[in-house]
Order: sequence, then structure tokens, then C-alpha cells
Amino acid sequence: MILTLVAVRKSYTSNEGPTEILKGINLSVAARESVALTGESGSGKSTLLHLAGGLDRADSGSVIMDGDDLSQFSEDQRARYRRTKVGLVFQQFNLIPSLTVAANISFHAKLAKRHDITWERKLIEALGLEQYTARYPEQLSGGQQQRVAIGRTLAAKPRLILADEPTGNLDEQTGDAVLDLMLDLARSAGSALLLVTHSTRLAARLDRTVLLRGGKIAE
Ligand code: ADP
Ligand code: MG
Repeated sequence: MILTLVAVRKSYTSNEGPTEILKGINLSVAARESVALTGESGSGKSTLLHLAGGLDRADSGSVIMDGDDLSQFSEDQRARYRRTKVGLVFQQFNLIPSLTVAANISFHAKLAKRHDITWERKLIEALGLEQYTARYPEQLSGGQQQRVAIGRTLAAKPRLILADEPTGNLDEQTGDAVLDLMLDLARSAGSALLLVTHSTRLAARLDRTVLLRGGKIAE
């Protein structure tokens, strides 16, 4: 297993007091496996992804990535984890506006010390971005920006890609094409994939689908 969540709980506190969002999550993702995470809006899908990505801490339980328990990590160790082991793709592309497409794509791979120019060229070609490498993010369409964001994540060949509705703000046709590319390239990179999606059509393209309901993974 590349990722294992055991009895993970998470609550948020508002004016009305704490609300428990995740009530004992058990979930495993095998190396190279692709898993679709579905569930109603507000069910805690993004919360779960944030915990798996080391962006936030669980209240209790274990998040085990590649044999290490993230809940035991210091801030520094979690930051290193985010740089080296995991790749995040969100609905907001989070590209760096002052860097060209080419520099955006190599940015995380360089941070992770896995910069591989041959692999990057292959990604740029597969993502249809050859003619845009010298442009800046604001000079691209939404679909093109999302392809850059996917290229940036894949360039670092993370063991696990966490994607939160990555094609949610693209039109259906563009979204499907981008997701197909992401699945293909994740397979080439040997990355496992945990993908949040509302779409049963998209989920059907992955190895397995799990449903988050009532704070737990439904059986
Ligand atoms: P999903 O991604 O499935 O739509 P989320 O994980 O974003 O669900 O949110 C689950 C619930 O937790 C929602 O009710 C949301 O309002 C609440 N929530 C999410 N993040 C926070 C936060 N930082 N502070 C307080 N409440 C939050
Ligand atoms: Mg969400």
C-alpha cells in the first residue's frame, strides 16, 4: 500500500461548536492504483485529501504514506513530504504567474530533486503544450492552464497524486480529454492516483470507486 488511512477523525470548530466531518475513515490505496473518491458536496472529500496531502492534521487516527505515519511528522517533515512524495492537483491551478509554462512545469520536479528533462519534454508533448512553453499562465485558456498544472505534478513523478475535482471548472469535453491524459501519464510515471470527482462517468475510468458518506467510507 502506498497510502493507508486508519480510523481518521477530523472536526472543524465554528461558532456553534465543533462539527465532526470525518468519523473514522479507513481507506487504502495500492501503489499504481487509481481510486475515485465520490460523495455529496460537503461530505468531507477535500478534507480527506488535505489530510492525505499533509496540508492539515487529523484529530486522531493514522495517515500512513509509504510506511511513514504523517500524524507523527513535525511541520518540517510534512513540508518535505509535500515537496517530495505527493503531487497535488486542485481545481484552482495555482500556477506561478511570474514563471513561464516551461518553468512552471519543472518547478516541483526541481524542488523534489527529480528534474528529468527527457521526461518533461515527453509530458509537454503529450499535453500538447509545445507551442506554449515560453508563455505565462495568464496567456493560456483554462484548459491549457490545467494541463500545465498536471504537467507540473507529473514532472516530479510523485508516488501518489491527489487530485481534487481537477477538471471541475473545464467544460465536459475538455475535462474528459485532460483526465484521460492524466490517467495515461500517471500510469507511465508509476504514480498512484486518488481523485475526487462528482462524475460517475469519470470515476468509471479508474480502477475503483469509494463513496464518502456520513463521515465514513461506505461499504
Ligand atoms: P467536500 O469536498 O466533500 O465538498 P469539504 O471537505 O470541503 O467537503 O467540507 C466538509 C465540511 O467541512 C463542510 O461542511 C465544510 O463547510 C466544512 N469545512 C471544510 N473546511 C473547513 C474549515 N477550514 N473550517 C471550518 N469548516 C470547514
Ligand atoms: Mg471539495
